[in-house]
Amino acid sequence: MIELLNKLYGNAIVFSNLRAQHRIPYFSEKKLHELRDRRLRRIVQYAAKTVPYYRDFFQREGINSGQIKTVADLDRLPLVDKQELRKDPSRFLSNSALGKNSIAFLTSGSTGLPLNIHHDSNSLLANIAFGERQREVITGICGRKIGYREALISYNGCVSTKVWDFYEKKTYIPVRPQRLLIPISKTIEAVVQELNRFRPNVLIGYGSYLEAFFKTIYSMEVNIQLPQVLLYGGDAMTNAGRDFIEEKFGVPVLSTYQAMECFKIGFFCENRENFHLHEDLCHVKIVNADGEEVADDEKGEVVISNLVNRGTVLLNYRLGDIASISNRKCSCGRTLSLLSEIEGRVEDIIILPDGQFVHPRVVWSIFKHKNEVLQYQLIQHELMLFELKLVTSGQETVNGFLNELLTDLREVLGESSTIEAEFYNELPRQNRGKFRSVMSYCKSNVI
Ligand SMILES: [Zn+2]
Repeated sequence: MIELLNKLYGNAIVFSNLRAQHRIPYFSEKKLHELRDRRLRRIVQYAAKTVPYYRDFFQREGINSGQIKTVADLDRLPLVDKQELRKDPSRFLSNSALGKNSIAFLTSGSTGLPLNIHHDSNSLLANIAFGERQREVITGICGRKIGYREALISYNGCVSTKVWDFYEKKTYIPVRPQRLLIPISKTIEAVVQELNRFRPNVLIGYGSYLEAFFKTIYSMEVNIQLPQVLLYGGDAMTNAGRDFIEEKFGVPVLSTYQAMECFKIGFFCENRENFHLHEDLCHVKIVNADGEEVADDEKGEVVISNLVNRGTVLLNYRLGDIASISNRKCSCGRTLSLLSEIEGRVEDIIILPDGQFVHPRVVWSIFKHKNEVLQYQLIQHELMLFELKLVTSGQETVNGFLNELLTDLREVLGESSTIEAEFYNELPRQNRGKFRSVMSYCKSNVI
């Protein structure tokens, strides 16, 4: 009974947000900005009352939170970076009932330093409705609105599977898309087999993985049941990779821009050139090295303010990605502003001697539960020669488990590979502040 009531409550949240989703992307600028600023005022009030970091800020600076009325006023709030958040994440977590019951998501991969970001259940439920904006594009291409099949190439416990489980528990939706998780650690042949069996309409995965996958199967000339749409997120595909897939396989490639800190930042429309920003859900501004906002079409660092999440509240948060906002209007008719593809979001893939490849998330899945490792970087110098840099909580605790770690890694990288491990106090960043947990100096003929 309680479960049913919970599901009905979940449904109510989804449906109350659902109605406007098809119209919002086409709202006039004025109407859209009113909606955005209304959400901003609400979350700022909430932060000032229930989030220690912001409560202290407003008190210390003597600023009345009611003075933050539009996104222009966000300049009065401090810029927050990952380091600040990592120092004490609980200071950004709301102590309201929603905050206390929020769900923790562990950031993965690219930074090499894990961090828990909490999302409150209401915002997660509302996200189902917000997803309609991208679903409209997908179903338009697929030609069917319900009952389509989605395959996701990822790992168990990734954000999507965690969110799917949450939705199963919290909502009653009679016709969900049929979904299949294909583990990213499977061989190329096994993935092809799964796709041919399940025949998905939509194939979802990491950009760098899908690019390597389609280039590899093109060279292998295997029979594959092609999806109608490819959707990548998490990391990016190169422009050349996107063009290659669209041209050789005739499958449109869409992208979504999301982060653990904000699940809805931007999405591709049918034109597939830039991201339309979810302006009313997440405010994005682009800043230079001094933290000042840059002009339209100028590249800089992406700074987000999540206007919907009442778990970990992040306003003026430096995401570390590099992009630019365009002031031109998209020919699709949506008024939501456009953001360029994210620079440096393409991750390195490890190539194995037998032509298989390993995505950084597979490496991450090995380290995920090894709490002794604070940060790692795996560098492939030659096909069989790897360097492993480790920052640990204390070397004495690690010596015993290093063998186990190397065994796990060899299972993925090949039994006869050489992995040279070294310990560091910290690992330097590259590429304008972005850290790569996996780097490869090897290139195959195909990828
Ligand atoms: Zn568009």
